[in-house]
Amino acid sequence: MTHPAQPTASHFINGEYVEDTAGTPIPVIYAATGEQIATVHAATPAIVEKALASGKAAQKAWAKMSGTERGRILRRAADIIRERNHELSVLETYDTGKPMQETLAVDATSGADALEYFGGLAGSLTGEHIPLGEDWVYTIREALGLCVGIGAWNYPTQIACWKGAPALACGNTMVFKPSEATPLCALKVAEILHEAGLPAGVYNVVQGMGEVGAALVTDPRVDKVSLTGSVPTGKKVYAAAAADMKHVTMELGGKSPMIVFDDADIENAVGGAINGNFYSSGQVCSNGTRVFVQKGIKEKFLARLAERTGNAVIGDPMDEATSFGPMVNENQMNIVLGYIEKGKAEGARLICGGARCDMPGWYLQPTVFADVTDDMTIAREEIFGPVMSVLDFETEEEVVARANDTEFGLSAGVFTRDFTRAHRVIGNLEAGSCFINSYNDAPVEAPFGGVKASGVGRENSKEAIKHFSQVKSVYVRMGDVEAAF
Ligand code: NDP
Repeated sequence: MTHPAQPTASHFINGEYVEDTAGTPIPVIYAATGEQIATVHAATPAIVEKALASGKAAQKAWAKMSGTERGRILRRAADIIRERNHELSVLETYDTGKPMQETLAVDATSGADALEYFGGLAGSLTGEHIPLGEDWVYTIREALGLCVGIGAWNYPTQIACWKGAPALACGNTMVFKPSEATPLCALKVAEILHEAGLPAGVYNVVQGMGEVGAALVTDPRVDKVSLTGSVPTGKKVYAAAAADMKHVTMELGGKSPMIVFDDADIENAVGGAINGNFYSSGQVCSNGTRVFVQKGIKEKFLARLAERTGNAVIGDPMDEATSFGPMVNENQMNIVLGYIEKGKAEGARLICGGARCDMPGWYLQPTVFADVTDDMTIAREEIFGPVMSVLDFETEEEVVARANDTEFGLSAGVFTRDFTRAHRVIGNLEAGSCFINSYNDAPVEAPFGGVKASGVGRENSKEAIKHFSQVKSVYVRMGDVEAAF
């Protein structure tokens, strides 16, 4: 790839790019064409050691800087990212295949939002004073130490920043491992953080597959693991972290419900369903992939949905007119095609899409199934692709019970003009990130994360601070110590 933003080596450790060609080569494939655009190498044990050792060595001095100084560096990095948004968006598009129309708007910019927000909070992270008559207790909010971040492939810049920004704001250091499918963007985040003045060793990036992640998670020097990935990987990583009682944040998969009552504004509900199923070609954890539509408006909803889905501009992701890009890689495309075939075989009604696009690259058509029932595979399993299941319902009580009948609990949305019902339904849904008359908004100011199998802990907002710090409490006695003997 000849691109000004291309990282110059596979890893970023102790403030500089590092290469070790003894590691397994990982080809970087541009999803829109299937062409190989770069190669990185998986971290060897020597690289993993170097990254962990530099993160560990840098932590105490980083935590001793004032929060305001740490925050200034994060905010400077946010400014650099915004100035370079275009070139970083091109890199994100090469890494993931997502269209520039999306990457220009949400990837580097949401990373910058996180750096700016947590940079702003860093100076005001304090403990409290608890008076106890003459005596008193004070608390100190301390960093956890060395944190490991492990990312999925759908938002490589955003995930690197959503984990790095709160970790660093609290005085931790980090070793981040991106998904092997999208290795490039996190390296640029590390490079820019150092350009902004980050001390060497505070934020390190190493490449590799699951075994590199596992080596990081099991190292006794690591105090916290934050994973974005699937539920099966989450269970393995959570169990591995538990062996040393490490802190965890788990941002995992979902099969979230979006409920459309018959009094809803149909255009807004259709827009929400499109955003919540087809943005990033459906490769979004919080997607509302079970769209429950009340029977009275079902056919009207489906007709508008098919019409508007037909307006998707599928094509070259570098063309800013393109609104729908390819899947991240051939493997993911084939997994999703398998689910589409299951939907057809189990008797769902295909409204639109349902096949691979007849063009180079890993493109699927945006696909809608109607008459989906709760027991169908496409209604139970996370597909992580552009496949929407529309289910019918009659009563509020019924839809809430069916919406909750899943192991997952990441997100949920309700479309209705009746606000009493909207709040009542949201109150009864088992999900961490919810929406009323909207879907998939994720501002840095709002907590993000799931319940049940979808995760543990929260990213973004002041909640994230709790998950990257711990409280020391100190009892201060002003008088004499009374003892029994
Ligand atoms: P995976 O669970 O396959 O992988 C996630 C990351 O974990 C990758 O970097 C992977 O490495 C690494 N990994 C795999 N095995 C281990 C292990 N044993 N120990 C440590 N690390 C390991 O997820 P995908 O990358 O396929 O991403 C899709 C999933 O992520 C979906 O389920 C989606 O819902 C979820 N997701 C959740 C989000 C949320 O915030 N809740 C947001 C985005 C996605 P490698 O891939 O290189 O082998």
